[in-house]
Amino acid sequence: MGVVNRIARAIAGPALALAMPFTASAQGLIRDAEIEHILRDYADPLFEAAGLKPADVNIYIVQDNTLNAFVAAGQNLFLHTGLIMETKTPEELKGVIAHETGHIAGGHNVTRDAAMGAASGTSLITMGLGALALFAGAPDAAMALFGSAGQFGMMTIFKFTRAEESSADQYGLDFLEKTGQSADGLPSFMEHFRYEELMSESRRDPYFRSHPISSDRISALTRRAASITAKSKPQSQETIDQLAMMKAKLVGFIGPANRVASRYPASDQSMPAKYARAIAAYRAVDIKAALRLTQELIDAEPTNPYFEELKGQILFESGKSTESVGPHRRSVELAPQHALLKVNLARSLIGTKSEDNIKEAEGLLIDALALEPDNAFAWNQLAVVYASQGRIGDADLATAEEAYQVGNMSRAHVFASRARDKLKLDTPNGQRADDIMALSDPRNRPRGARPGFAGTALNTQH
Ligand SMILES: [Zn+2]
Repeated sequence: MGVVNRIARAIAGPALALAMPFTASAQGLIRDAEIEHILRDYADPLFEAAGLKPADVNIYIVQDNTLNAFVAAGQNLFLHTGLIMETKTPEELKGVIAHETGHIAGGHNVTRDAAMGAASGTSLITMGLGALALFAGAPDAAMALFGSAGQFGMMTIFKFTRAEESSADQYGLDFLEKTGQSADGLPSFMEHFRYEELMSESRRDPYFRSHPISSDRISALTRRAASITAKSKPQSQETIDQLAMMKAKLVGFIGPANRVASRYPASDQSMPAKYARAIAAYRAVDIKAALRLTQELIDAEPTNPYFEELKGQILFESGKSTESVGPHRRSVELAPQHALLKVNLARSLIGTKSEDNIKEAEGLLIDALALEPDNAFAWNQLAVVYASQGRIGDADLATAEEAYQVGNMSRAHVFASRARDKLKLDTPNGQRADDIMALSDPRNRPRGARPGFAGTALNTQH
């Protein structure tokens, strides 16, 4: 795992709740168990067809209403929420993912000049820190960091060459063909935005600035796509429903305020429409309506872990920690593979202030960290657990881990040093405190590296 992965993964917890304080144009990386699950279902077969190990490819969701998707710093795929919300069919989203995977397979992103690489690393970390600071209860610091995150756009200033674009197109079509899927999505996606070809460079969506669109490109794609599609299987109903639910969730949480009403009029009684309305009610702090609408969803689909998650989130965020435990517990039972759901439950249990519940939260956080060792928010909550149990050395160590995961090396050093003073060196925790001290020691940081994240690159084996 590279530094980019470590930092971005550090943003954890109920991510879409995190997104709420921001305006629709704010950027940030978001985490969401349901959306990540769906994107994995869509992308992993394509990664495999490209000869990549899905576990080695990181998928990041960027909260940004503009249209964009790109690969950076190796096997890292970034998808803007704006792009996910604009795709009309699973084929379109899969087509875009297949094309981006083509850039990875073709090694296009790694051949960029070093300056580009440096810019992307810095910006990503900025995003991660901003989001985390918000979690840690320092929204001012978070906003300041987000304010300086304009560099994030730097990553897409570069343009692929026409040769790289057509090579990524061909790779992408190969991957769709290998997985037996229709290849019409990519040309159809470009058709919707064909007018961008006629616009001046600066007015185009970022996606079409970095991936130049042209009539030649669309017609070349369309021809070969048709022959692949002729042999393909149609997308399953489940796949189609997944995109609809993911879009409804994004529109509800981060779309422009009036979007839910315009996209999902009251007459629309579909599950996605109900989902979007439940989330919109929550966002508007109409807790009663949000709970009623969410309960309707649960009654219709009692084994959906994400409906339970939403119910738990609504209750927790409205100050009802005890009531939020049940739905969060059910979400973990329904989808035990998601670290984020375990962290939600742990947070609710901690909120009840009961000793037994805090003990249970400890176990959940340790499980979550086994799945995502770089989940800084889980470390943050574990520090809260230890502090409330009077285990100050362990709490300091967990705080050091949290700081280390977000690249705040000076803070990591201070807390690791405090932890080492309190813990026995011949215990695993004492050893770990000693390790973090060494890793975060200013003397061990490379010269000229930016303070704050230099050390995260030193040890990627956690
Ligand atoms: Zn491209």
